[in-house]
Amino acid sequence: MISIAQPIIGKEERAAVDAVLASGNLAQGAKVAEFEEAFSAYTGADHAVAVSSGTAALHLALLAHGVGHSSQVITSPFSFISTANAVVHCGATPVFADVKAETFNMDPSLVEELITPFTKALMPVHLYGNPADLDPLKDIALRRGLAVIEDACQAHGAIYRGQKIGSMNTACFSFYPSKNMTTGEGGMVTTDDAEIALAVRQLRQHGMNRGNIGFNYRMTDIQAAIGIEQLKKLDNFNAARRKNAGLLSDGLSGIVPCPTEAEGTTHCWHQFTIKLGSKRQSVLTALHEAGIGARVYYDPPIHRVNPYFTSGLKNADELASSVLSLPVHPDVTEEDIAKMIEVISCALA
Ligand SMILES: *Cc1c(COP(=O)(O)O)cnc(C)c1O
Repeated sequence: MISIAQPIIGKEERAAVDAVLASGNLAQGAKVAEFEEAFSAYTGADHAVAVSSGTAALHLALLAHGVGHSSQVITSPFSFISTANAVVHCGATPVFADVKAETFNMDPSLVEELITPFTKALMPVHLYGNPADLDPLKDIALRRGLAVIEDACQAHGAIYRGQKIGSMNTACFSFYPSKNMTTGEGGMVTTDDAEIALAVRQLRQHGMNRGNIGFNYRMTDIQAAIGIEQLKKLDNFNAARRKNAGLLSDGLSGIVPCPTEAEGTTHCWHQFTIKLGSKRQSVLTALHEAGIGARVYYDPPIHRVNPYFTSGLKNADELASSVLSLPVHPDVTEEDIAKMIEVISCALA
């Protein structure tokens, strides 16, 4: 089976972990600091703070921006459940703005009407690695006194209008094994705001020096050692994903709607997601029978899950019932891609 996601761990990661184990310093220490420096240099953000997961990054970024009880956060309903859960972890309520059918991302033109006196932040998601339309969101946030916190858990190395994701607002990354780079479990908050960075640093460590109410969301030096090596390889990983996405687009674009890249943005191809409508189940079955681990992300969408039920999100509903993601990761070969194209073409003929 060609899997939908495949962590790529080499001898460099193994050697780095061995060195940490030999050092005896296993918890958050020098390697975490080194990983943070490398990640802030890579993204161009002034600060990067490592935590134990992408969800922890979202949770602490929201808290650091003052999201708390009775706050509302406007976000995308078409995402992984963690996006909304992180808001609830703060005692706050997610409010969903529908997505654009072409980009899978929150539609900025629908955001303003959802703002109330309780709204504290806008939280766009760069779904599948495709940068959300940040400029209009930033404009609304500046006018209305709101924070922008990006769920960049699928967007390592993506670029929006010439700027790396992570360098423009507070942004949250995940290093789960399915992501473009991994530390096993792990996360990172990037920001240019020194106060936000300090708050996240304090909150990840039991709230020490900050009222003593916090969490143990630390990353270990073992994870950071893997992350340092993975980050060195990220651009090569992403180049391989880009090549695969190009081959998939070339082979499929006359047959099914394929994902596109907006002008001036660089997709990092976390997923390559096509739209199949009512043909999805038959195509999925054909792909699985051919040994291709295609997957559906995300059906149900967040607003169709019990605590988050919201109606009137038409595009998110339609996409949820239509999308299918194909393996696009660096271990996917040209032969695999030829097979996917053939299976999909036959299933749709
Ligand atoms: C992976 C992911 C998360 C959560 O990251 P974890 O490291 O699994 O906690 C949040 N949001 C999105 C969009 C993700 O893809």
